[in-house]
Amino acid sequence: MPLYLPHFNLQNHNTLACPALADFFVSVSSAEDLLNAIKFSREKKIPSMILGGGSNIVLKSDFPGLVIHIGLLGKEVISDDGEYVYVKAAAGENWHEFVQFCLDFHYWGLENLSLIPGSVGAAPIQNIGAYGVELKDVFSELSALDVQSGLSVTFTAEACRFGYRDSVFKNELQDKYVITSVTFKLQKQPQLKIRYPALENALREYDHDSITPELVSEVVSNIRQTKLPDPNFIPNAGSFFKNPIVAMAALNAIKMNFPEVVFFPFDEGSVK
Ligand SMILES: Cc1cc2nc3c(=O)[nH]c(=O)nc-3n(C[C@H](O)[C@H](O)[C@H](O)COP(=O)(O)OP(=O)(O)OC[C@H]3O[C@@H](n4cnc5c(N)ncnc54)[C@H](O)[C@@H]3O)c2cc1C
Repeated sequence: MPLYLPHFNLQNHNTLACPALADFFVSVSSAEDLLNAIKFSREKKIPSMILGGGSNIVLKSDFPGLVIHIGLLGKEVISDDGEYVYVKAAAGENWHEFVQFCLDFHYWGLENLSLIPGSVGAAPIQNIGAYGVELKDVFSELSALDVQSGLSVTFTAEACRFGYRDSVFKNELQDKYVITSVTFKLQKQPQLKIRYPALENALREYDHDSITPELVSEVVSNIRQTKLPDPNFIPNAGSFFKNPIVAMAALNAIKMNFPEVVFFPFDEGSVK
């Protein structure tokens, strides 16, 4: 049974290092602990808040309820069809450590997403993305606990309705499910995605045939370190800029005044 800690300072649990106090804090490491924590907040009639790595929250004041830290751990290979390997990771796993684990075992596809802070469980919520790859590109399915019924539900990619830094969990299903694990569909033969301009530039000094997923991970990590401070040393919330999505016609109009404008294909008829 995990400890329910009263008057808990969340300063070490958010990358902005906001010293907000939670009435109660618990770290859950099993589905049973998670269910009990939800029950605890119901019985006490206090709100609850799910917390992963705290890299995408702003604690603007104290939290008058129970903070449930997701400490579910574990990684396992679910299946291997020769072309793809399906790897399941529990929600509390650290994202970057999971990326490194996959690289070590030669399960490819996550390399561009190296060094993004936070947990595996939060990654689908905003469909994390960086350097030309988004979580949805390597996603197979996820398991989540229905907060109301306490039942475990499986979500396919379609059910997650991934968008640009978006998913169903940021919209109509917000706060209705706790993600407990995510299964990834990873390549056995690397399919490198290195056309993102900053990455492509940084890789120019390498012979094309020598570029491996490990090198991509290293180069992405290096670029990231030049752009943003490590939250462990300088508290920060990362970049919260989102590219605007505009119609092709709008891009063409912008190009008349700014021919060098940087843009990326988005979907048919629009760019970001
Ligand atoms: C320096 C820095 C760089 C960053 N770079 C990037 C980047 O390149 N690309 C990018 O996409 N993002 C980036 N981010 C944002 C952030 O890292 C991601 O959004 C990450 O997925 C958040 O994970 P977390 O575990 O810290 O979530 P938290 O901050 O703990 O939680 C975020 C939200 O998700 C909810 N939540 C957390 N876990 C669960 C769960 N298991 N089930 C249900 N709800 C849950 C929380 O209640 C909260 O509402 C960056 C952030 C920082 C600080």
